[in-house]
Amino acid sequence: MVYQPEENRYAMMEYRRCGKRGLMLPMISLGLWHNFGGVDTFENSRDMVLRAFDLGITHFDLANNYGPPPGSAEETFGIIMQKDLKPFRDELIISSKAGYRMWPGPYGEWGSRKYLVASADQSLKRMGLDYVDIFYSHRPDLDTPLEETMGALDFIVRSGRALYAGISSYSPEDTRKAAAILRDLGTPCLIHQPRYNMFDRWIEDGLTSALEEEGMGCIVFSPLAQGLLTDKYLEGIPEGSRASKPHGFLKPDQVSEQKVEKVRKLREIARARGQSTAQMAIAWTLRNPVITSALIGASRKEQIDNVVACLENIIFSKEELAAIDRILED
Ligand code: NDP
Repeated sequence: MVYQPEENRYAMMEYRRCGKRGLMLPMISLGLWHNFGGVDTFENSRDMVLRAFDLGITHFDLANNYGPPPGSAEETFGIIMQKDLKPFRDELIISSKAGYRMWPGPYGEWGSRKYLVASADQSLKRMGLDYVDIFYSHRPDLDTPLEETMGALDFIVRSGRALYAGISSYSPEDTRKAAAILRDLGTPCLIHQPRYNMFDRWIEDGLTSALEEEGMGCIVFSPLAQGLLTDKYLEGIPEGSRASKPHGFLKPDQVSEQKVEKVRKLREIARARGQSTAQMAIAWTLRNPVITSALIGASRKEQIDNVVACLENIIFSKEELAAIDRILED
């Protein structure tokens, strides 16, 4: 059947500007790190992407190595583009990245121009796209001059492979340096993609202020700590969950009793707000307007519905924030 998107999709989502740049992103974006690979069921992956678009989620985040096997999430997305989303290309923001190991030898990972440009070409081919909207340096590389890595991003943009450049997991100091290099090259850095959730608040220590000063956007990954910040693990590790899967990046020993106990307490605050634990955890990441978008993952389309509904209440009282801080500090 020919896919017809929900007509009022743009009434269902709110959009925030990437810092001082022109581009706006949905406050919830969908990442294809888990559950879109060659090992997963294609129809479920397709249902999730289309459901997200129906809800006004215009941004889909990929990377060269997402799968497993590496590259297969981009192939899955390429099929969905071809089958369903091609007529809507101009309504979509599609990103990819290079930085982690993708192929053998010295040119298959990190931050050299050789690797980044080759990887961008491979990603475009796998997705069947002429360009991606955002191309990221996936992780800092302390052995490659920042000028080379940023120069490669500038080239990827100037050569038409991407519209915007981004960086992921760079420290506040390297973010400022990268932003200055890109600014001088004439390709301002659009956005930073760091991890941020209730269990990992490192960006509050200097990164958000750097992004504000640089006028850059911020899209935060793993806002649910890979599913830990939901009710899923309160009674152990359920079958089918990320922590139960051999290729899942959430390992069973990360589901500690200490974390689960905190989630039990957070659930009480969420209930009082009329939200699920997952909804409150996402809303909490969006409480600061410097955060452009929360980049979620999902294994079923109902999870996307659930998370998007959190936008009905992203305001926290001082008392709620203090109570959350106390639980997290304990
Ligand atoms: P999340 O923290 O949002 O975790 C997603 C998982 O949480 C889902 O797979 C699901 O787990 C569970 N979940 C989601 N919604 C619900 C719900 N409503 N109720 C219960 N459980 C729910 O994000 P990810 O860790 O998946 O990361 C998101 C994206 O961020 C990635 O896809 C990728 O695009 C990006 N990323 C970027 C990185 C980088 O280095 N730049 C690194 C990591 C991620 P389950 O599968 O168990 O059902």
